Amino acid sequence: MGRMKNLARELIVRPGSKFKLADIDAEDTHGIHKSAAPGHLQKNCERLSVLQYLLYAEARRSLLVVLQGIDAGGKDGTISHVMSGLNPQGVTVTSFKVPEGPERRHDYLWRVHQAIPEWGKIGIFNRSHYEDVLVVRVHNLAPRSAWSKRYRQINEFERMLSENHVRIIKFLLYISKDEQAKRFHERLDDKSKNWKFSAADLREREYWDNYIAAYNDVLRQCSTAEAPWYVVPANHKWFRNLAVSQIMRETLEDMKLKYPKPSADLSGIKFE
Ligand code: AMP
Ligand code: MG
Repeated sequence: MGRMKNLARELIVRPGSKFKLADIDAEDTHGIHKSAAPGHLQKNCERLSVLQYLLYAEARRSLLVVLQGIDAGGKDGTISHVMSGLNPQGVTVTSFKVPEGPERRHDYLWRVHQAIPEWGKIGIFNRSHYEDVLVVRVHNLAPRSAWSKRYRQINEFERMLSENHVRIIKFLLYISKDEQAKRFHERLDDKSKNWKFSAADLREREYWDNYIAAYNDVLRQCSTAEAPWYVVPANHKWFRNLAVSQIMRETLEDMKLKYPKPSADLSGIKFE
């Protein structure tokens, strides 16, 4: 098994760049061959488990992983594959749905702030505050005057978090429209996947171009040094899992996590 290339560098959306999704090929596997993937994925998951342990032991910082994607983009699959090696005590997964109850009586970041992982933990967001500039914008759920201010607000919120020991990485799982059709067909044909099918997803598909436009603005305006966006070509599930695990690993390695000093002088301890 050769060395893994630096996927973070290849998939990051450079802050301030004129990024557009039309330039990304959802089939791309960045020169990696499928046969090499399982070995690397396994190594990443093993290393993630060690890094998570260090994060937990240190208990002074946390990692927030935001997953976004068009319907059938593979958010659930990524969570189950990539996070399977993590210790459940140290991870929280939060799925953001249509706001209800008190969520509707607060600003849109209220529920998000409550779900930020505490220090020592990894938090996974299955959808996020970005819905408030995606679905909300595409379907005019709020006036433009409201959502257009949110790019700045989100950047400020994420900077505040990063200045308070929350490391943030954000993934767009990017599939093509054809691949989405294929996955919807699977949901219809496979009895074990029928439950995943929703007529709403088909309606959303008609807004494909609007979503792409909305995502382009998110990626151009909200990929920052403190909280970068990564666009993961996700037609190939094996590549998607490999890329997400690799970038999570690189991020945690970069944090230079260390065990805290023991609270007692261990050399002097004796007991029978
Ligand atoms: P799913 O992820 O398939 O369970 O679907 C959750 C649904 O909730 C999606 O259709 C999202 O677009 C929707 N949703 C999530 N957050 C918001 C939000 N802030 N405003 C409106 N709809 C949202
Ligand atoms: Mg859905």
